[in-house]
Amino acid sequence: MKKIIKISFFFLTILLIVVFVINKIIAPGQDAKMNKVIPHENFAVSNVSEKLHNSLFIADLHSDTLLWSRNPEKRWKRGHVDLPRLREGGVNLQVFSAVTKSPRGLNFDANSAGAPDDISLLVKAQLWPRRTWNSIFERAIYQAQRLKKLESNPRNNLLIVKNKADIENTDTKILALLLTEGSHPLEGKIENIKNLYNAGYRAMGLQHFFDNELGGSLHGKSQSGLTNFGREAVLEMERMNIMIDVAHSSKNTVEDVLNTIEGPIFISHGGTISGCKKTINRNLPDKILKEISNRGGILGIGYFDGAICDITPKGIAKEIIHAISIMDENSVALGSDFDGTVTTSIDTSELSAITYQLLEQGLSETQIRKVMGENVRDFFLRNLPES
Ligand SMILES: [Zn+2]
Repeated sequence: MKKIIKISFFFLTILLIVVFVINKIIAPGQDAKMNKVIPHENFAVSNVSEKLHNSLFIADLHSDTLLWSRNPEKRWKRGHVDLPRLREGGVNLQVFSAVTKSPRGLNFDANSAGAPDDISLLVKAQLWPRRTWNSIFERAIYQAQRLKKLESNPRNNLLIVKNKADIENTDTKILALLLTEGSHPLEGKIENIKNLYNAGYRAMGLQHFFDNELGGSLHGKSQSGLTNFGREAVLEMERMNIMIDVAHSSKNTVEDVLNTIEGPIFISHGGTISGCKKTINRNLPDKILKEISNRGGILGIGYFDGAICDITPKGIAKEIIHAISIMDENSVALGSDFDGTVTTSIDTSELSAITYQLLEQGLSETQIRKVMGENVRDFFLRNLPES
């Protein structure tokens, strides 16, 4: 008997060591490796640009911070976004996107929907609750709960935006809005739109890197449009005032959505093919971007290689200006994709480098106010539920 206890104790100790190493060393190591900032000297700013930057309403349409287990209340040396760095960057409104499934061998060209899912490994390594291990829906619910926990601490001064009044009534708070990265968390059930809405989601991406029950991804194998379920889903989203993000949707899906619903759609993180030719399998053609803008939609410019060619603040500003020339100055915004398994030139505390570059490259103060945040604020004010 004693021997059995000794052996059990030995294996339990080994198991605890393995769990500790995975949770405290390997998972944070992956975070640091996958969400890098290129080492750099301070980027140029001027007194004039700093003054302007400090007076802006700043909004960013896409950050995957909730996927990673680092506590956003603390300032971290790894990753791109936490509350202290949002404040340093002057951010008033941050969209938090929930990544729930990601195919192994991720690429922009053609991912198989049946490829092994890397997020399954990550949620286990980070010791997320057991219910998230096999349910994509529960992963979205859990990420909303993480944000709610931040909101519940008054010291964080954070408000999760649910309706128009939430955007209008906040001077010093950081506003946060929940977005799903793809609609696979519906797990094929229309009623889960309501459940995600009740969990706080006010925007839903349709696809991520693979084709799903709603239709084709821009990086999937089929390049197909909306399925019948997808049509039903986008109509239900529109009925509930859930804003629709087509950041990873195929051209056919985007066209189908525009033909199915009345309202506008948006692209939370991306760029233009005409601004960076190699982004053909990551971005949409100018013609569709123009249609999106004509319908009152917006495009958030990503800061990563794939959305744009030059990821420096200078290159981000250049792509913003190019996107304005295709869409218009009311349709272009920031859509970093911070913490989205991307390497960037800045983290969110350094956004004033973009303001400086926009001024240097000739945008007017009014245009800078719009692209740095007012376009997002106005889009949300037009499309969020009344109450
Ligand atoms: Zn994405």
